Amino acid sequence: MINFNVPTYTDKTKQYILDVFAEKHASGDGKYTKLCHDWFKRQLNCKQALLVHSGTAALEMAAILADLKPGDEVIMPSYTFCSTANAFVLQGAVPVFIDIRPDTLNLDETKIEAAITSKTKAICCVHYAGVSCEMDTIMDIARRYNLLVIEDAAQAFDSYYKGKPLGTIGDMGCFSFHETKNIMSGEGGLFVTNNPKISDRAELIREKGTNRSKFFRGQVDKYTWVDKGSSYLPSDIIAAYLYSVLEISNNIQEKRKYIWQKYYEAFIQLQDQKKIRLPIIPTDCTNNAHMFYFLFDSLETRTDFISYLKRYDIQTPFHYIPLHSAPMGLDHCRTHGDMSITNRVSDTLVRLPIYFDMTDTDLKTTIKTILEFWEK
Ligand SMILES: *Cc1c(COP(=O)(O)O)cnc(C)c1O
Repeated sequence: MINFNVPTYTDKTKQYILDVFAEKHASGDGKYTKLCHDWFKRQLNCKQALLVHSGTAALEMAAILADLKPGDEVIMPSYTFCSTANAFVLQGAVPVFIDIRPDTLNLDETKIEAAITSKTKAICCVHYAGVSCEMDTIMDIARRYNLLVIEDAAQAFDSYYKGKPLGTIGDMGCFSFHETKNIMSGEGGLFVTNNPKISDRAELIREKGTNRSKFFRGQVDKYTWVDKGSSYLPSDIIAAYLYSVLEISNNIQEKRKYIWQKYYEAFIQLQDQKKIRLPIIPTDCTNNAHMFYFLFDSLETRTDFISYLKRYDIQTPFHYIPLHSAPMGLDHCRTHGDMSITNRVSDTLVRLPIYFDMTDTDLKTTIKTILEFWEK
């Protein structure tokens, strides 16, 4: 079986997890959480980086920090994971879906302004496959209309837009360390911000609305309930796993980029023959090799492809069912304009196996089997 994804761990993972018990601190914000915070602040060059228990949790924090009133609107793509929308629905806000760009499959920045109403409070952009949205245009619109920008950077670790790390360009950034992402701790996530006002409040919200983080730093002599909040911090056991993976992040990225490049080189001929379309990376954006996908010309070809590969025990999943067509999307969200690109991409995209421990033999078998599909 060639899996679509296999979670990574390292020689140090077990040692670090056992060390958490030696430290006698297995709850949140222990030694390994601090190590991860420092690592991310350096890596992302940002003021605040807070580990949370999932990308979903980071998005929920962002939605609370956006201070939305019931009925406030947040513009986002429909071609995304449900957590992008759920976070705002939980605050009583209304996700407003707009179509995506045909090249990067990111929300189409030229369609944002027409979707803005007096209730619009934020734009939540998703960097699909780790390739940046057109951030200059999005930030310019946000400034002109006084909107917050939340980056769903769940897939965007180690990716850049005009040299800036994704997740740190808008007001808030949300990363995921789910086992399917480049950097992982099974479940896990990170909330980042450079805005000092948001940063102070983010600490409270993550700690059940208490000022416990200030207390631990000796800035107040007792801690108390001062804000809304929930429990978003992970156990230090998760942070220990994550830290062991961060230490090999360069190797992970190198390997993923190698696999991505091999796929690209093998399948460019199919694109030249107009059989498939490969990913497009605009010049201002980098590729973090989070995902390798193709687009087919029809749902039928994709269905045949997936079942062909399945016969050879190779997993090639499709991706999002558009949120605007989901029961919750129909009930709790609004759609602005034509969604034809979202609908077409949802029907025709397929993802190929890519993970750190993928062997050259499995990579070669996957490429060979895919080329054979087209020969038969
Ligand atoms: C993975 C993902 C999430 C959710 O992250 P979890 O860590 O699984 O909660 C949210 N948005 C996008 C775009 C994702 O890919």
